[in-house]
Amino acid sequence: MGNSRKTYIVANWKMNFTPGEASIYLHKLSERVKGARDLQVVLCPSLVSLQPLSLQVSRRQFKLAAQNFYWRDFGAYTGEVAIAQLRGFVDYALVGHSERRHIFCETDKDIREKVAAAVRNDITPILCIGETSDERLMGETDVVIYDQLLGGLSEISKEDIDKVIVAYEPVWAISSTKNARSAAPEEIEDAIKRIRTHISKLYGKNIAEEISVLYGGSVNPSSAAAYLNVEGVDGLLVGGASLIADSFCDIVEIAKGVEK
Ligand code: PEP
Repeated sequence: MGNSRKTYIVANWKMNFTPGEASIYLHKLSERVKGARDLQVVLCPSLVSLQPLSLQVSRRQFKLAAQNFYWRDFGAYTGEVAIAQLRGFVDYALVGHSERRHIFCETDKDIREKVAAAVRNDITPILCIGETSDERLMGETDVVIYDQLLGGLSEISKEDIDKVIVAYEPVWAISSTKNARSAAPEEIEDAIKRIRTHISKLYGKNIAEEISVLYGGSVNPSSAAAYLNVEGVDGLLVGGASLIADSFCDIVEIAKGVEK
C-alpha cells in the first residue's frame, strides 16, 4: 500500500493442541521466528492455553489472541469467558470467524457486541467477514461483505475504528469447508477493494486507506507471497498451515521479504 502499516501474520490454531503441546510448539516457534520491524506475529491458541502461554511468550516476538469470548464483562453466564477476564493475556481477539457464524450460529448482534466488548477492553478485534460459495455464485459477495461490516462495526465510532482489524475470509476458501478451493489473487483484490470502499462510505476515505485488512483461506508457504502482494492486503490469517512449524515459520519469513 506504500505506507508504513504493519504486516500481520495470525495463526489460528482452532481446537488443536493441549496446553502442554501448545507450550512445546510455542517453544519451537520462539527459537525459529525472528521478529522484524513492521511485522506482527499473532498466535490464537485455545482458551485453555492462553493463560499459561501468556506467562511463557515473549511479547516482543509474539502477541496472543483469543479465538472466542463472551461479550458481557461479568455475570451469571455459566460456561462463558468474558473478554474482560482475558485482559492481560491477549492483545487481539478473533470475532465473527465463519466457523463461529456457521457452526455456532453467531448472529450479527453477537458479533457487533463482541467487537464493541473487545474495543471497550483495549483488545483489538480481528473482525472476520466473507461470503459462502453459494452467496458468491449468486453474485452476493458485495452485499454480504457490506452487511457483515455494517453488522460488526455498528457500535464502533470513528474515533475507535483504528482499534479494529478486518480479515477477509471467503468461506469457500477456508480449508475446513467442504470442496474448498484456493482464492485467486484477483478475487481477493476485488473483495478487498469492496471492503475499503464500504469502510470509506461508513468512516471516510482516510480510514478506509489506513485500516488493516488481512486475507485468510488455505494460505500455505507456496501461496503466501502471492497473497501478500495483493494490493490492499496487510497480512494473513492462517489456519491449517499454522499447525505445522515449518510451514508457519516459512510464511513468516516470506512476509518479511514482501515490501509493503
Ligand atoms: C481460518 O479458519 O481462519 C483459516 C484461514 O483456515 P485455513 O488457513 O486452514 O483455510
